[in-house]
Parts: sequence; C-alpha cells; structure tokens
Amino acid sequence: MLALALASLLAATPHGAAAAASPPTTDPGVLFFVAPLSDADVAAMTGVVWRAGCPVPLSSLRNVHVAYRGVDGVVRSGVLTLHEAVAEDAVVVFKALLQAGFAIEQIAPATARGGDDAELMAANITSAFNCRPVTGGKGWSPHAYGRAIDINPLWNPYQKGAVVIPAAGRAFVVDRDDSDHVGLLTPRSPAVTLFERHGWTWGGRWRSLKDWQHVEKKPTAASSSPAHRRAPAAAAAAADDKPADQKSSTSP
Ligand SMILES: [Zn+2]
Repeated sequence: MLALALASLLAATPHGAAAAASPPTTDPGVLFFVAPLSDADVAAMTGVVWRAGCPVPLSSLRNVHVAYRGVDGVVRSGVLTLHEAVAEDAVVVFKALLQAGFAIEQIAPATARGGDDAELMAANITSAFNCRPVTGGKGWSPHAYGRAIDINPLWNPYQKGAVVIPAAGRAFVVDRDDSDHVGLLTPRSPAVTLFERHGWTWGGRWRSLKDWQHVEKKPTAASSSPAHRRAPAAAAAAADDKPADQKSSTSP
C-alpha cells in the first residue's frame, strides 16, 4: 500500500521542481527506519541541543528517518530525533501522513539551526528533540524528552492571546480553519486525526493557548521510567512549550 502510494507520488512528481532543503528520495525501501545516534550525532548535539542536566540521556534518543511529501510534491527524506519509546510510533504516523499526501516543508533535527527554536519556527522546519524549558515554568518542554514534534511551525504557529510565535506565522492564524493552505494542522485536518488515533496529543486543542504546531506523546504508566514520568508534569505545568526568552521578545 505504501509502496503503491509512493510509486504514484513519485510518478506524478515533476523532476526539477523548486529546490528544497533535502534531495528527492527515490528508494522507498530505505525511507523509514529508526537508528541510534551516531558518534557524529552525539558530537553535533552536545552543547547545542543537549547538555548535562537534560532530562533524558542521549542514549535514550533515536534518529527517526522518515519520508514526507514536500510542498512541491516531491517525496523527500528527513530526520526527527525522538525518544526511543515513541520512535516506532512516529514511523507509523509519518507513513500515514505520506500516504495521505500531507505536505511538510522541511524535516530536520533541531541542530539545523543550532537549537534556536525561534529560527527553526521562522524557517518552517519540522523538528522534535530539543532540550529547552517551557515558558515561564520550572520544568522542561516535552521536546526536552524527545516526546514532541513541531510540524510546519511557521504555518502552525504558537498563539497565546495577542502573542503569535513566530511573528510571521500571524498570517496563518486568521481564518486558519477556513484556509485551504497546505500543511496546516486544524481540528478538521486528517493529519491531526492520524496523530490522535495513535495516542498523540495536539496543542491545537489546548484551551489557555493554541500551539498549533505541537504534537506530543506522553508515556503510559506501563512504559514510564523515572525520567519519563516527569514529562507529563512538565507539559501540564505550563501547557506551553516555548522558551520564556522567545515570549518576552515577542510579547506586546
Ligand atoms: Zn512543540
């Protein structure tokens, strides 16, 4: 089924389409897999998106290699760094997103912008693990546990009252439920349905704020380790996964 969907996508894809960040993928057999972090990954992440004191060790993280449909229709490959407990879940969902034709501009680890979440969002880069705090809270963001993904963050901004992050995402807040723009997560989006069907929580359903880009999968009681058990508490404490410095810099 996936192979057929990929074949049709690839067949329908014009070569030489607009350039994107990663090269077109042509081998469906290697599109989706989970790999431990390499020594080079560890070196690139340490001191940038991970440091001593972060809530999960690098040994608990995996690089989830996925394929996705780019805005130009080309199937591309990308890497999401996630906790080992949700890595295979992510593969299942991203296979379904590809089959559904959900468009993603670019998928890359947070190291692509030195872990700077503001830059990642402004560049519309879909990313996952990033050891950073929640807004105004004492806990870590669910991203610091590798249990959250921000999807097309420019088109699916964070919104709390008059604050929209990234600022350029404001154009996608107005009338977003009526928009036919590609790559949006909305209550009617099939992509949201896919994530929720597989046990992920979407920030677009939060009441105190809307984090349209954010999906996370909390640990179940059976799978909790001491480190994991802190994730839901951190998420619930602030219901908000943006660092305080970003909020203060963009608050009116
Ligand atoms: Zn997030």
